[in-house]
Amino acid sequence: MYVKNFEEISKEEVGIAGGKGANLGELTQAGIPVPPGFVITSETYRKFMTETGIFDKVMDLLKPVDVNNNKELQYVAKKIKLLITSTEIPRDIQTVIIEAYNALGEKTGVEETDVAVRSSATAEDLPEASFAGQQDTFLHIQGVKQLLKYVRMCWASLFEARAIFYREENNFEHSKVYIAVAIQEMVPSEKAGVMFTVNPSTGENVALIEGSWGLGEAVVSGTVTPDTYYVDKKTNGILSVSVADKKKMFVRKPNGSTFEDNVPDDMRNKRVLSDEELIELNEMGKRIQAHYQVPQDTEWAFYKDKLFLLQSRPITTLGNESKSEDSDVVGDREVLIKGLGASPGLGSGEVKIITKIQELDKVKEGDILVTTMTTPDMVPAMKRADGIVTDEGGITSHAAIISRELGISCVVGTGEATSTLKENDIVTVDGKKGFVYEGEVKAPTGSQDATQTVVQSVSAPILTVTDVKVNVSMAEAAAKAAATDADGVGLLRTEHMILATGVHPKKFILEGRENELVDTLVENILKVVDVFYPKTVWYRTLDAPTDEFQTLEGGENEPHEHNPMLGWRGIRRELDEPEILAAEFKAIKKLHDKGYTNVGVMVPLVQHPSELKKAKDIAESVGLRPHVDVEFGIMVETPGAALIIEEFIDVGLDFISFGTNDLTQYTLAVDRNNELVSKHYTEEHPAILKLIKYVIEKCNEAGVTTSVCGQAGSIPKIVEKLVEFGISSVSSNTDAVADVRRTVAKAEQKLLLNYVRNTSKRD
Ligand code: PEP
Ligand code: MG
Repeated sequence: MYVKNFEEISKEEVGIAGGKGANLGELTQAGIPVPPGFVITSETYRKFMTETGIFDKVMDLLKPVDVNNNKELQYVAKKIKLLITSTEIPRDIQTVIIEAYNALGEKTGVEETDVAVRSSATAEDLPEASFAGQQDTFLHIQGVKQLLKYVRMCWASLFEARAIFYREENNFEHSKVYIAVAIQEMVPSEKAGVMFTVNPSTGENVALIEGSWGLGEAVVSGTVTPDTYYVDKKTNGILSVSVADKKKMFVRKPNGSTFEDNVPDDMRNKRVLSDEELIELNEMGKRIQAHYQVPQDTEWAFYKDKLFLLQSRPITTLGNESKSEDSDVVGDREVLIKGLGASPGLGSGEVKIITKIQELDKVKEGDILVTTMTTPDMVPAMKRADGIVTDEGGITSHAAIISRELGISCVVGTGEATSTLKENDIVTVDGKKGFVYEGEVKAPTGSQDATQTVVQSVSAPILTVTDVKVNVSMAEAAAKAAATDADGVGLLRTEHMILATGVHPKKFILEGRENELVDTLVENILKVVDVFYPKTVWYRTLDAPTDEFQTLEGGENEPHEHNPMLGWRGIRRELDEPEILAAEFKAIKKLHDKGYTNVGVMVPLVQHPSELKKAKDIAESVGLRPHVDVEFGIMVETPGAALIIEEFIDVGLDFISFGTNDLTQYTLAVDRNNELVSKHYTEEHPAILKLIKYVIEKCNEAGVTTSVCGQAGSIPKIVEKLVEFGISSVSSNTDAVADVRRTVAKAEQKLLLNYVRNTSKRD
């Protein structure tokens, strides 16, 4: 059978409908109102491959491939995908698909129904399980021509390079791989949101419902603060209603794409869900939970007053919050102020408010340093502190980066610490939650107080194919970073080393003391490359924002910029001051000549390939040969660089590393150091993930290594996605390496297990 409607599919039919298709069928059969659709069965794929004669061609192409030769693998994968996407689907199959699509149009009342086209692996049965390349989903597809095109794209995704690699490595036969494709109506909802069938924080038996106007994307992506409702599971009693000011909504354009719009004024503060709708949702939640026998995390939508369920999966975080290791400790302590948790751990001590550098001596061993924002001059005092609290800044600000590296708990962006906290009062900084409590709070034994667990060594080594590296910003923190057993340094920042000298690098050059600058750099970098030898250390050339370099001796002439984050920094500045860049390359060459062949060079903030080319020329001019002596790469931290990554590849690259701190601020137009907009700052925004995925795909095709060294590399949820996208390594903060390694291992195993299940069920 070529196609089957959702109504005809049960969960046992994973073999022909794939995991996703079977799940949608199961829900439909259980009477849950999922948007209508059908599945193009795995048998159809098989017929397409055999009847068109491309099956044998594909197998022949695969036979001689050496999967360890990345270029060859990429080439063959591309060729196969092209073969599949350019081969016409046999008439009889086309007819059946078109008929099913037209029948769907009759159901929805729309001629060219807007649909999602989703790959559905034939034995997928893990929630959220995915195998890289096999889970391609295409949204907003309209019309027969487009539909047939994207169905073939789903089929072709079975032959992504990574998928071929896994099959070869694990002795699975390519000829036994099948894939189904689920076609489902996209609902242009008037209101939508999420529902947890129990309270996800406490496990309490109440439904937690969040809703906003327009498409569900607004709630799921966190673009809007939605209304929140709690409903008693048993009695349907509405326990609480909190109506938010909903500024944004996603709506569908006539061509099927979506765009973000302002919510009309009269709807912004209007309650989204009526009591009747909440009860309807609650009843549906109960049915789904009863069906699956475990609490569910669902996405719902109302369209023309009809309720639809778009997605349902088990709640994975259940109980985590209530078991959080330090929640008990807080007891009934008063929270004095809140900010962003920037470096985990609990630190207690006397408050010392620093408004001028001259006051730094006030901070004694074990005190809490409170200031507007830390500067490099404060590092010695920061080292003495047991906790740090700032008024300003985000989680990638100076205070945040340095305190993570030093293993000191830190809360940033409180807005008012220097005016609210009182000098000499005893407080506790909770750098995980972002709270400052009154008095001293001790971490319970066995909990993760950052000061004790910065180095989270693991007794049995965890092996991962994706490398887990570490970020280093201070030479003196290198040993601690190396003790994590990281697979190298994915980002060695230069700025903090230079700032620590107290002298502006330009001053060295102007006074003819270039040698001193080179020697200082050699001395600092040496400490890192030595402790990590033979693991690679990617040295990032200077990324000096003018505001941070003003305080240095010789920094008086730094320009005063309106927004230094968007200004004269990174490689654009270095190309204007090539003597400094040349001095850095001389330092790297010296180290290379000493036998430290484990150093690589990474150029920050590029936005045009000519910048990469010029940087390489400067390296050549001092005798350092890019790609020969040292690996040479760029940081991808501007959308500009991400979108034309192919052109950078053409100039020649060994690797790229995502600087997600900057990539996030430049993609979302959110200043990373401005706490007023910090709630809008998230690396999980779909636009950022889309840019990252695109760059990884292009780099993988070209055999360029990929990594991430921004904060996203320390966030397990994002790391899991990056592994699925096919990233080669991730680089984390010292305190996060162990966690990230576990996340990477789990993500890799999940991909593999999913693959094994898919194939074994078909055998
Ligand atoms: C980044 O932008 O993600 C990054 C790692 O660089 P920095 O934080 O130093 O700008
Ligand atoms: Mg950056």
